[in-house]
Amino acid sequence: MRSDEIRRLFLEFFEKKGHKILPSASLIPEDPQLLFTIAGMVPFKPIFWGKVDPVYTRIATCQKCVRTTDIENVGKTPRHHTFFEMLGNFSFGDYFKEEAIEWAWEFVTQVLKIPEERLWISVYKDDNEAYEIWRKIGVPSSKILKLGKEDNFWGPAGPTGPCGPDTEIFYDTQRDVPTSDGKEPTPANTEGRFVEIWNLVFTEFYQDENGNLLPLKRKNIDTGAGLERVAAMMQGVYNNFDTDLFAPIIEGICNILNVEYKKDEKIDVSIRVIADHIRALVFLISDGVFPSNEGRGYVLRRILRRAARHGKLLGANAPFLHKLVDFVVNKMGNVYPEIVEKKEFTKEIILGEEKRFLQNLNKGLELVEKVVRENNGKISGEMAFKLYDTYGFPLDILRDLAEENGYVLDEQGFNEYMEKQRLLAKSAAGDVEFTKRTGYEDLKLKSEFVGYEKYEEYSKVLAIK
Ligand code: ATP
Ligand code: MG
Ligand code: MG
Ligand code: MG
Repeated sequence: MRSDEIRRLFLEFFEKKGHKILPSASLIPEDPQLLFTIAGMVPFKPIFWGKVDPVYTRIATCQKCVRTTDIENVGKTPRHHTFFEMLGNFSFGDYFKEEAIEWAWEFVTQVLKIPEERLWISVYKDDNEAYEIWRKIGVPSSKILKLGKEDNFWGPAGPTGPCGPDTEIFYDTQRDVPTSDGKEPTPANTEGRFVEIWNLVFTEFYQDENGNLLPLKRKNIDTGAGLERVAAMMQGVYNNFDTDLFAPIIEGICNILNVEYKKDEKIDVSIRVIADHIRALVFLISDGVFPSNEGRGYVLRRILRRAARHGKLLGANAPFLHKLVDFVVNKMGNVYPEIVEKKEFTKEIILGEEKRFLQNLNKGLELVEKVVRENNGKISGEMAFKLYDTYGFPLDILRDLAEENGYVLDEQGFNEYMEKQRLLAKSAAGDVEFTKRTGYEDLKLKSEFVGYEKYEEYSKVLAIK
């Protein structure tokens, strides 16, 4: 089953269950405190936070998401991306646990026709209600794991706020992997065999300043299933990158860089990183993010340089990323018209950044030579960080150079500078309470770029006057 069909079936299924189907919101959230839309619930945060009343009490979407927290995993695990699509159904004070669980199960087992034996469930250890619903549906107790807060409790996003237990559906790929305790494999004692495909969150509490969990007046449902993971499950492949969503992009990379996929793991990682990052670049630029030295633009820049660097590892000595835009647009433009509309513009932005990066790379190389000449072959942590920060010179390039030429590189010092910067970035991106602003001012501004109708739709949903 192709990914287009999975997306369509999901939305149709929930439409039949009375949900209003909305198009994906922008990757740039209305919430000024959040860098990117990291989940399907983000556009509805004002409703979850009780700041506005819902216009529709049942909504389903396929939402564009970007998570930079997973970037180190990309290409290495079979299931993590920076850009991905999240299928989700939401209830705002309407249905609750029973329907959410029953419908998720119905969709997976009846519509997608996944054999029940291949599915596992996890619930929050104190959530007997959820546990009993799964039992009632017929899931054997041996396949329902009761886990703690780290695994099955969502939120609150700050010191206070809405939160609640969740339940996850795992798919058993039946891969032979070692268990940590020598017992029968379960999602809790293995890594890489069971894939979390769907998370159902029951937002039923509000955590106050003293850590008390107060029951919410309006209980909400927030679910999310990664389309790429569902596609892998449906297409009988282990790695998301082997689904139809990525095949044409990977083929494009192989043709343009003249490399072969699935011959060498190290090369494959680079190919997958590029395939992942080019999607993120296309979608971020189409939603109005531009390369810069701060905030969202800086993240974009980092993603691009990471992709360019992996291209270099594969032998690319000239800009190539802009040539991959067509493959992404051909694959996904039918669902996301904004990337078609912004195609030529996206190519231009990417090409400009690629050129700049290559230039900086050369400047950086000269600077490295100067530094080691003046410092007896040593590169201090501070200098490594400056090269990284000012010239976008990635540490792994320095590492290669050091190894090739016998330089001494202070990686620990570099990491200390990085950590300082990371903490700064984190505090800037921290998730705090909603401000009193309606966000309408921003929506108006952004609408020029992404199409006014879409935002009109969202402002209706969020009851923004
Ligand atoms: P994992 O434990 O595998 O990292 P998660 O628990 O962090 O996933 P959630 O925050 O629950 O993920 O997101 C809901 C769903 O979105 C997941 O069940 C998964 O299907 C999908 N998903 C989450 N993160 C990613 C990602 N980086 N790339 C692709 N899909 C993802
Ligand atoms: Mg995760
Ligand atoms: Mg998880
Ligand atoms: Mg989860």
